[in-house]
Parts: sequence; C-alpha cells; structure tokens
Amino acid sequence: MASSDLVLLHAPSVYDFRGQSILYGPVSDLVPSTPVFEMYPIGFTTIAEYLERHGLRVRIVNLAVRMLQDPRFDVERHLANLNPAAFGIDLHWLPHAHGAIEIARVVKRLHPRTPVIFGGFSSTYFHLDLIQRPEVDFVVRGDSTEGPMLTLNQYIASGGAAHPAPNSVAARTLASIPNLVWRDTDNHPHVNPLTYSPDHLDDILLDYSYVLKAVVRYRDLASVIPFHAWMRYPITAALSVRGCRYNCATCGGSACAYNNLHGRRRPAYRKPEDLANDIRRVGRFSQGPVFILGDIRQAGDEYADRFLEAISGYKKPVFIELFDATPPGYFKKVARALPNFTVEISLESHDDHVRRAFGRPYTTAAIERSMDEALEAGCQRLDLFFMTGLREQTYDSVMGTVDYCGLVLKRYTAAGDTRVIPFISPLAPFVDPGSRVFEDPQRYGYRLFCRTLEEHRQALLAPSWKYVLNYETEWMNRDEIVASTYEAGRRLNLLKAAHGVVEAPVAQATDRRIAKAVALSQEIDRVVAITHPEERRARLRALKPEVDNANLSTVCDKAELEVPLRQTGVNVLQAAHVVVNEWIKGLARASQNAP
Ligand code: SF4
Repeated sequence: MASSDLVLLHAPSVYDFRGQSILYGPVSDLVPSTPVFEMYPIGFTTIAEYLERHGLRVRIVNLAVRMLQDPRFDVERHLANLNPAAFGIDLHWLPHAHGAIEIARVVKRLHPRTPVIFGGFSSTYFHLDLIQRPEVDFVVRGDSTEGPMLTLNQYIASGGAAHPAPNSVAARTLASIPNLVWRDTDNHPHVNPLTYSPDHLDDILLDYSYVLKAVVRYRDLASVIPFHAWMRYPITAALSVRGCRYNCATCGGSACAYNNLHGRRRPAYRKPEDLANDIRRVGRFSQGPVFILGDIRQAGDEYADRFLEAISGYKKPVFIELFDATPPGYFKKVARALPNFTVEISLESHDDHVRRAFGRPYTTAAIERSMDEALEAGCQRLDLFFMTGLREQTYDSVMGTVDYCGLVLKRYTAAGDTRVIPFISPLAPFVDPGSRVFEDPQRYGYRLFCRTLEEHRQALLAPSWKYVLNYETEWMNRDEIVASTYEAGRRLNLLKAAHGVVEAPVAQATDRRIAKAVALSQEIDRVVAITHPEERRARLRALKPEVDNANLSTVCDKAELEVPLRQTGVNVLQAAHVVVNEWIKGLARASQNAP
C-alpha cells in the first residue's frame, strides 16, 4: 500500500468513549456529528489537497468514525501499521482536548521518532501548553496553515530534525517557517511570528476529489468518512470565508477571536466564482446538500450577486446562512440561482435584548420580514436555531423563546406551510477560547470553571454534560441551564408534533428520550454525591448501557435537520468517473511540465 508523508488523524472528543459512562446530553443534536464529535475540520481537506498539489502524499484517518462504526476497531494496531514521515492531529474544537492528546500519546509511544504536529483554533490558543508536552513536537498556529504545513512537511520529509540544536542550520530553517511553534534540543520552546495569514482564499481548493483519490490509493473508504451517518446523508461543506464580521460573545470564530488568536484584522473571502466551482465539484459525485459556511452577504451585495450568477442553475440542495436581515428582493435572486435552497438562521432568543447582548445585530421583526421573503421565494425549508446559556437569559426567558416558537409554528402551519422548523440546544459544552466571554467572563456575566487546556481535558471526563459545561451565567447556574434545555426541548417537541412539522411517532420517541435523559441526569447527580470513589465508579459503570442509549439525539431527532434527497447520497459511478478524470488531468499536467 502507498506510504504517505503526512497522516492527518482525527480523534474522538474523549479517547476511550467506548469504555466511559458519560451522559453527553444534547451537545451535538444540531450538528451532523454524534456527541463524540467525529467530524473532522474542513482544514483537513484543504491541507491535504494543498500538500498533494505540491507533491506530498497525505492520508486522512478519521479514528473517531472508525471507533464509532466498529466497536472492536483496534486504534493501537491501526496506528502501529501506519508509517508516515509525520502525523498531524487536529485540536481545532476544544471538545477534542481529551481525545487529541491521548491519540498523540499513543502515536508517540508507537512511533517515537515520528514528529507529531498539532493545529487548529484550540491548538493556536493553547500552543504554549501543547509544545511543552513530550507527545507534541510542533504546533502550527493560525486560521490558515496550508503554507506553513507544506514547508514544515517538506523539511520533515527531507530528514530535518524535529528538535534541532540551538543556532544550527536546521534550527534556522525551523525559525523561518511562519506560525510554527517548536522546541530545540534543550526543550526550549520557540514561537515563530504569526505572519502567514493570507487575506484571501484564492490559494486553497476545497476539492473533495482528493478524498476520492485517497480512498483508491489507500484502499480505505472507512477512514475518510467525515461523520458517522455521511454515507446515508452526505452533507458537504463549502467555505466562503475565514473570519467573520460579527462578534457573537461566546464564538471562537468571531471577529474578535480571529484577531486575538490569528492576528486576522478582516475576513478572508473565497472568490465568489471559486466558491460556485467548489459546490459544482461536489455535485459531480454527490446528491447530498452543500452547506455554505458563512453568510454570502457578509462581503457585500456585489459578492452575493457574483456568487449567485456563477452558481445559477445548480439544482441540488444548498444550505445558506443568514447572519443579518436581508434587503427586499434578495431571496428572489437566491431562488432564481439556487432553486433548491434551505435557509439557516440562528436567532438565539426571541428576545431582542438577549439576542443583542449575544452580538446578533437584528431585531425579531426585521428577521421575520426576511423569513417571509425566503418562504415566498420558495425556499425548501427554513431552520430557526435558538440557544440556552446566553447572557441576560433566565429560565423564564428560555420558556418565552419556546412560546415564541409556538406562535411561529401556528402562524405558518395555519396557512398550510410546514417549512419553518425551530430548534433549541444549549451553548455546550464550552464557551470558545478567544471569544469575548472567555477572555473577560465577569464583564459579560459569566463564571468559567475551566481556563487551562488541562482543566478542559479533565472536565470532558465528567459523568454528565452538566459537569462538563465550562461556564454558568449570572442568570442561570449549571442546574438551570440543564433544566431549561430539557424542558424547552420537551415543550418544543410537543409543539412541533401539535403543528404537524414532526410526525407523532417521532415526537413520542423524542419525548421518551428527553424523559429518560432527565431521569439519568438526576441519577448521575445522586451518584456524583457518593463519597466512596469505588462505589461511585461502580454505580456509573452500571448506568453505562442506559447512558449510551440516551446519548444519540436528545431534544430532537437528528433526522429533523435533513432535507429529503432525490437519490441516495454518493453516486459511486460518478465518484469513480471523477477520480479517473482527475488522474488523467494530473498525468496531462505532469507530461506538460516534463522537461
Ligand atoms: S456565531 Fe456570530 S461571530 Fe460566530 S461565526 Fe456566526 S455570525 Fe460570526
């Protein structure tokens, strides 16, 4: 089998989740991942494509999916059989703080001479903690690491030392790689300036045909699957931007966090025509929806118009996000270009005051006008997302949000329209590092339980999500956040059933799951109060089968987020056709470049 220069490993949130009894709660109900957070970051695909384009061989191994799909999957044996020049591990989202570091430890034990590279937003934030760990050799900081990763991996592939002597030639080479954090032979950490921060996304390519080629090359489909249910529902992401113009208080992807962590002063946008091409490329092998990350209006109306013109006539499902209310006529243009579009809006709260305190700039009245226009223009569906755990938000305010959802459902379903679907979930498990709240919790009325990487790692092993939460607020403590989330989920589920947007048997099953989760959560509270450690462990172990059952889809059924597909997900023949075409193009390029 082909060897590789770099193997990118994606860990589960908690490494040994298969043996642990943890009630994860509704932390991942509204994302494609399970609570193990098995979806790897989009940067894996852009880094892999970029390095491959420059002559290196990269393999993605989603250990989290492998572990989920096969209870007997032997991580250590699988890792022992991999022999790349370097391993890359993402610690992008902080909920991977446990799994990512444990995987690094295993890799280091099995391959002591192979460098281990960390990257991602949380790695950037905690780069000094990470570089002092013996299982980590390098950290690449920043929101854009394709360039530094290429230089670093070329250095490693040419036999460069991971920890060179101070002032040696190798040390000078490492010192010249932007964004890199490394150690010398004396274990002294070096933090290179964060100077690689392209102001556009022209050099990256979100080209999933790389993934298809890797499946053939390594004869390994199971390891590149982005998340557990992907083969059944192959939703794919398209990246319009790195950075954001908005400043939502707890978001690690906000303007302020990008500035703090990555030195990014303004968002870097993908050219609208390139974004359209990215989506069309996905459409060549997949019937699944494409989710455009970032509101296409963020870069201005001209950007949105250019994109819509470039994508015009694309008939497969596309999800678009709204970060602000839209001007009149916007959705008519969207509908002309993308006849199969779905709209995603995170209102957070029904209350303008709470929403403004979070950082969203619009009023309920303004967004309702946008909603009406989207529906009138013919969107396939309109998802509304609300959150618990916000600044200025009390238990009663959460229930007020559910009442508002009832009014919205009533208003549209009375007219026979079941396309508006509200969802509610907690801000969980962590307030993001780098966000305004994480940096100055008191000012925003938050109390943080964890600050360091190690504290977050330990928190992830707590027996229920209440104890994993790294915060509580002046307005709700952790008990109230948990109670309001379950109660809001319960009431909203019943409202959806009453208004016919969720079928009765699905709603009944969700209601039973919520009741079970509440009972389990209370039982775990009682177990946590047991002072004898062995008895506590034994009681938790005994709860594991019930906890595992309660861990999938708590406050809603994950399938509620899916749009119906005309044909089944991935078209294997088309995928093979893409691979062959790409190879032919590659051979043609190689022969043109030959001397
Ligand atoms: S949550 Fe707010 S700050 Fe974060 S990416 Fe979305 S709009 Fe931007």
